[in-house]
Amino acid sequence: MTRILVTNDDGVRSKGIQALAEALEPLGQVVVVAPAREVSAIGHALTLHHPLRLEHVGESTWALDGTPTDCVNIAIAAVLEGLPDLVVSGINRGLNVGDDVTYSGTVAGALEGALLGVPAIAVSLQQGPGEWDFTEAAAVARGMAERVLRAGLPPRTFLNVNVPRRTPLGVRVTVQGARHHATTVTERQDPRGRAYFWIGEGQDDWLPNGNSDHEAIRAGFVSVTPLQSDLTAHHAVEALKGLGLEKGPEVD
Ligand code: MN
Repeated sequence: MTRILVTNDDGVRSKGIQALAEALEPLGQVVVVAPAREVSAIGHALTLHHPLRLEHVGESTWALDGTPTDCVNIAIAAVLEGLPDLVVSGINRGLNVGDDVTYSGTVAGALEGALLGVPAIAVSLQQGPGEWDFTEAAAVARGMAERVLRAGLPPRTFLNVNVPRRTPLGVRVTVQGARHHATTVTERQDPRGRAYFWIGEGQDDWLPNGNSDHEAIRAGFVSVTPLQSDLTAHHAVEALKGLGLEKGPEVD
């Protein structure tokens, strides 16, 4: 029996994860292990310094007071008692494109699956003007999951799928986009006169690429980016060797 582990970073009660789990039901046994509360922007954090509690909250649904990365590990150790055939993380409220993928708990859930040797997909939906409607994104997720279950993925690779808010015009295989990053930090005073700070998302000044995740979404397409945990700047290795770093500090 095909087993599919579903997680997210918006929390176990989010509509996105419910739509995703329902859409994947026809493909196998779906088990949901997700954070008890929203932990968006938690990245790839692993909880090492407090105990994790697992609560059975539905027929095949568990809530964990941890991160998406915790959820994948606890699901494998204590719920599935073995590896699933697929990990799907999402459906996130909001895109995870470009540099944002490193902040994303949704993407990290899929990354953790990939690191453990399981094919994995992260799915995120662009915010629209009205209520969140995950119908289209759930159908996209099922299509991707079917293909990945059938054909697999290259080792240590996982898919970052982003779905536009309007009915997609098609699917594009993309690369991770880049932007000039500017975070806004607002400073206020609390009632006791002490400063506090609030981090906002700031301006996005996307760098043109022609084949980026961000451009595919802007053009109305589903973006599918193959990601990996290897953050090495492979193009820079030779340049660094040329700097003589391997010779050690210069001694007079
Ligand atoms: Mn989220």
